[in-house]
Amino acid sequence: MLSTMQDDQLSLAHLLQYGARLHANAEVATWTGSGTRKSTFAQVGKRSAQLAHALRSLGVTGDQRVGTFMWNNTEHLECYMAIPAMGAVLHTLNIRLFPEQLVYVANHAEDHVVIVDGSLIPLFAKQLPEMRTVKHVVVANGDPASLEAPSGVTVHSYEELLSSQPETFDWPEIDERSAAAMCYTSGTTGDPKGVLYSHRSIWLHSMQICMSNTMRLSDEDRALVIVPMFHAMSWGMPYAGFMVGASMVLPDPVLQPGPIAEILAAEKPTFAGAVPTIWQGLLQHLDANPQDISHLREVVVGGSAAPPAMMHAFEERYNVPVLHAWGMTETSPMGSVARPPAEATGKEAWEYRYTQGRFPATVKARLVDDDGNEVPWDGESVGELEVKGPWIAGSYYGGADPDKFHDGWLRTGDVGKITPDGYLTLTDRAKDVIKSGGEWVSSVDLENAVMAHPAVAEAAVIGVPDQKWDERPLVAVVVREGQQVTAEELREFLTGKVAKWQLPENWTFVDEIPKTSVGKFDKKRLRSAHADGKLDVTHF
Ligand code: AMP
Repeated sequence: MLSTMQDDQLSLAHLLQYGARLHANAEVATWTGSGTRKSTFAQVGKRSAQLAHALRSLGVTGDQRVGTFMWNNTEHLECYMAIPAMGAVLHTLNIRLFPEQLVYVANHAEDHVVIVDGSLIPLFAKQLPEMRTVKHVVVANGDPASLEAPSGVTVHSYEELLSSQPETFDWPEIDERSAAAMCYTSGTTGDPKGVLYSHRSIWLHSMQICMSNTMRLSDEDRALVIVPMFHAMSWGMPYAGFMVGASMVLPDPVLQPGPIAEILAAEKPTFAGAVPTIWQGLLQHLDANPQDISHLREVVVGGSAAPPAMMHAFEERYNVPVLHAWGMTETSPMGSVARPPAEATGKEAWEYRYTQGRFPATVKARLVDDDGNEVPWDGESVGELEVKGPWIAGSYYGGADPDKFHDGWLRTGDVGKITPDGYLTLTDRAKDVIKSGGEWVSSVDLENAVMAHPAVAEAAVIGVPDQKWDERPLVAVVVREGQQVTAEELREFLTGKVAKWQLPENWTFVDEIPKTSVGKFDKKRLRSAHADGKLDVTHF
């Protein structure tokens, strides 16, 4: 029996019109360095219509790809809205990709137009001649004359293109299963792989972002969107914001702790999201330059494991709860969020909050061992996490890397355990696991334990070859500014906190842990630095 319900399509064209009309006065504030320039959802709606007309005038039809090479700002938000709403596909180009990868993804996606922030022209211009399908470049927030176009490419000014266009657009009917946006994985091996989000997947994901078991985004919020809009759709915050009327503060190019602290003081956001390295940096800054940030009702941390010491520091020193979450580009990205069950209090609640979180109803999860057998959710058995659901990728664009998918499940490459009540704890990336004398050592556990030392700013753990045990952990440590600590002291600090046989005997002190294009520890580079003998290792 078929239902009698309407088969109304979940389209971003509707989301745009809805937000612009029913949350017309919700604000979009873009940081200028000393204050903000302000817009509203109503204005974003009008300018999105103008942008859609402008893109049509450049020949964008059907599901053509329009790339963005931009910071987090109002114009990028307009692209987020207008491009999918007109039926085209938004391709957020990661400005930190290696040049050859950037060229690869623009060619692979066959971008027809790329919208570029003026300040990023020097970075973009070098690669543009190799982007075979790009016919138009639109410069936002800058001078188009500063971009020398190769033959066959026309350069335009974003503002000039929009200025003469009508403020309404006849948004098309869109099949909710068609692609709305694409993002390439930031993987450190092989070519980047394209994930194509649908109107439906973005819509459902946005609803989940607002629910009480996840971010609780609402019209009472002013969300500081630090996660780059070129990384995993900025964790879905722009679309979720439009759904509920949450105002947004967009930091433009700012990712440094000092300027973020300035934005916090000036704009008093209630919510923010970023990877742990950003929060660690901010914490150090705040400890040296105290400031009230209790206007933040909560901040979400994901992308890498949130160190428990950092979570406690924000809550106990700054009255800001940290919400830990797990996800991937392939999972839209929200996969699990660590809200403790209502009945858990005190230490028990904290234990839940340290985990990568509980799966929402739409994300199905299982753990699989090396032989492909499912392992139980007993909070102890470890396996590779596999997920499925309406906002989880079922394949990559063009069918790349088919081994990542089987029987309708995505192999995440993350290794961990799940409690009977559905809380995930990740112990490692599959490619980062350390096997010592046949036993697994969790690099995440060791990192968290070392980062709990007050003199440690950052710590990353990798496995290094060992004659006796095959592999042993090596800890790379960044010491906080103005502090001092020795490897002996850190080893002593870990005693009693981790199993004795796991106590690392290899330590190195570095100025900085190498980071990936989205600000995570780049263990591949750390491993090759070690293999090339570039690390000065203290060995016990
Ligand atoms: P990306 O697609 O670049 O966002 O990377 C996704 C990967 O980041 C996941 O597969 C995990 O390995 C890692 N990751 C994301 N969130 C967390 C978290 N909360 N804890 C540990 N690792 C995480």
